[in-house]
Amino acid sequence: MSPTVLLTGGSGFIAGWVLKFLLQKEYTVITTVRDQTKADFLKSLYPADSKLSFVIVPDIAAPKAFDEAIKLPGIDYIIHTASPFHFKVTDPVKDLLDPAMKGTLSVLTATKAYAPQVKQVVITSSFAAIIDASRGNRPGYLYSEKDVNPVTWEEAIGDNPATTYRASKTFAENSAWDFLKKERPNFTVTTINPPLVWGPMLHKVSAETINTSNASIWALINGSCKDVIPNARVPLWVDVRNVALAHVLAIEKPAAQNQRYFVSAGNFSNAKICDYLLKQFPELKGKVPTKLETPELTSDEIFGSDNSKSIKELGLEYISLEQSVYDLTKQLLEWL
Ligand code: NDP
Repeated sequence: MSPTVLLTGGSGFIAGWVLKFLLQKEYTVITTVRDQTKADFLKSLYPADSKLSFVIVPDIAAPKAFDEAIKLPGIDYIIHTASPFHFKVTDPVKDLLDPAMKGTLSVLTATKAYAPQVKQVVITSSFAAIIDASRGNRPGYLYSEKDVNPVTWEEAIGDNPATTYRASKTFAENSAWDFLKKERPNFTVTTINPPLVWGPMLHKVSAETINTSNASIWALINGSCKDVIPNARVPLWVDVRNVALAHVLAIEKPAAQNQRYFVSAGNFSNAKICDYLLKQFPELKGKVPTKLETPELTSDEIFGSDNSKSIKELGLEYISLEQSVYDLTKQLLEWL
């Protein structure tokens, strides 16, 4: 019998690809979604696949949110992707910190209590849990798995939504490593830490509901930039297909147990993306901005990423920026 994976947040952008790769590789998959409509949509993508089933988890921040799902018999692996990624924050704790932190701890505590057969929990963390924003551009520095964001709780609950989001990912990841040390469960933990993730979508979106990271490319082609190329929030990116595959490879490669992987394709600038867009889609002339907001930083003037561990241990082959931007934009122009 094929191994069974519990995937949390199957309706999300990254999870959509994790789900596709798991089913392609013939895993049995139980995925959590917030409501039946989302389950019905995912089922419609794989109508003949009897290896896919659903558990409704309306709010990952609720106490014992994952108990029902994790009590299901026969789960071998858990991939926990569900966590809010947006900057529409009115209450930092309720909107971002609680779901990220409580969601992760609910998965871990329920697994220890009810599913001693689970071998490994893979968690979608982030570059947000790596970067030290207080160090600024750090010319020449290469962030890697060794770096941990030193953000504090006071900073997390302040009025900068980007800091709150980064803190939510940092505290969630830190709590997983602490859990492992203190509770010594039967399972191992792996975290996948991507920077900004782009690429084609398998989940359902509209111009209003497009996921946060792809929205930054959508903004470059929908005319909303008014001819000014915005500065990027972070200069590192990766394609969604690489990120999703990393989650699946993490459960297949023994070397990945209790490891952290910085899954980054490298540096980008919005100016470079706009350049690609105008070459790939000449019909977008007039919509894609052409004037820089501030002079562009060269790669010597801003930090980069060391992705060698993900290449060596997971065997990732990174998709190029040009390809990723093309695949996403083609879909955005067809869909939205
Ligand atoms: P999406 O917004 O597409 O996915 C987020 C998922 O989490 C969705 O399934 C969403 O459900 C679910 N979710 C969020 N909050 C709750 C909640 N309170 N209760 C139940 N479910 C909830 O974003 P991504 O796919 O981009 O993000 C997935 C993961 O990847 C997150 O952990 C994010 O932090 C991380 N990440 C993303 C990056 C990116 O650039 N995209 C970069 C680095 C890390 P629903 O669909 O119903 O809203």
